[in-house]
Amino acid sequence: MLQHDDHDVVVVGAGIAGLAATAALIAAGRDTVCLEARSRVGGRLLSTHAPPGVLDLGATWFWGGERRVEDLVARFGIDTFEQHLAGDTLVQDATGVRRLPGNLIDAPAHRFAPGAEALAGAFATGLPAGVVRLDSPVTAIRPHATGGVDVRTPGAVLHAEQVVVALPPALALARIDFDSRLPPELVRLARATPVWMGAVAKVVARYPAAFWRDAGLAGAAASSTGPLQELHDMSGPDGQPPALFGFAAAQIVGPGFEQAVTAQLAQLFGPAAARPDTLHIQNWSGERWTTPPAVHRLGDYSLFGHPLYQQPALDGRLHWASTETATRYAGHIEGALAAAERAVTASLTTDEANSCSR
Ligand SMILES: Cc1cc2nc3c(=O)[nH]c(=O)nc-3n(C[C@H](O)[C@H](O)[C@H](O)COP(=O)(O)OP(=O)(O)OC[C@H]3O[C@@H](n4cnc5c(N)ncnc54)[C@H](O)[C@@H]3O)c2cc1C
Repeated sequence: MLQHDDHDVVVVGAGIAGLAATAALIAAGRDTVCLEARSRVGGRLLSTHAPPGVLDLGATWFWGGERRVEDLVARFGIDTFEQHLAGDTLVQDATGVRRLPGNLIDAPAHRFAPGAEALAGAFATGLPAGVVRLDSPVTAIRPHATGGVDVRTPGAVLHAEQVVVALPPALALARIDFDSRLPPELVRLARATPVWMGAVAKVVARYPAAFWRDAGLAGAAASSTGPLQELHDMSGPDGQPPALFGFAAAQIVGPGFEQAVTAQLAQLFGPAAARPDTLHIQNWSGERWTTPPAVHRLGDYSLFGHPLYQQPALDGRLHWASTETATRYAGHIEGALAAAERAVTASLTTDEANSCSR
């Protein structure tokens, strides 16, 4: 039997945007439920335990001026530390590896000591029990005949006055049935909007020691030959655990990829780099709840923050909130938080307008 319940707002997705929107709506007194497809919160914030610390397999940094992230870090008391910058840069091309003085790749940036996922965890922990429902993929959103929307999961139909869709628009169109009720120009836009980092694999190599630092290298490298195209030091606070990470195009991940990565690491950083203690390959294009099919074909980043995402759809009942919909800092955690803020303001404004007309 399908469970039926009624709420002011249903938020779809418990990534950082969905969690921030949920927390703000609850703080504003709205009965809100957040439905999450995965059995964890955080979405593209994902950290794996690597005692004595953690390794980030999704977002890594935040930067000066990202005040929403700074505020959250302060509010939740999350320790931060600075990205390691000291040392020389390596550049790899078909002719070999060159060493250039100084770090030409990394900008000064902050890191989350307990991992980026801690931001999402802190939000979720602060919400009343039962607000976030895990393992609840939304399969359909339909305007309800007498007002509001019906939001369906395999086990429930939730009725709400409004819905906040806090996942990448292209993913929403691929996974959620809107019963052809969205305007065609919005559907075209959403299907064409890239998913930030959706076509990327993040590779994290953990080592017993940061031998590259001892050699005066920053751990920063750029490669035109690959498989990793851009590499950074990813060691935790005080260098623990020692680690390097790199990005690769997800399309090249397949048989032999791991060997190709360790061979490249050895070419760049020397023989010690060929034998990481652990090698994590996080292929975001294979993540059903991050990435729609053929994500690598979506390349028009000028669609991020498009004006159509700034206005509610379905007669004021649907608000967008993922980082892709932000007008500033789109792609970043800061963008996800800004998009959530805008969705919450629009939702509360619609709510007030509706109460005045009742
Ligand atoms: C490898 C990588 C590196 C990055 N590096 C950085 C960085 O250094 N700094 C930075 O600021 N940003 C970085 N980012 C981007 C950052 O992670 C994102 O901007 C941010 O996490 C997006 O949050 P979101 O809530 O908008 O979306 P998401 O995190 O994608 O959240 C969407 C949520 O919706 C859920 N969901 C999906 N479909 C459904 C459905 N049908 N029903 C219910 N739930 C659903 C998902 O499971 C997910 O939890 C990086 C991302 C990646 C992948």
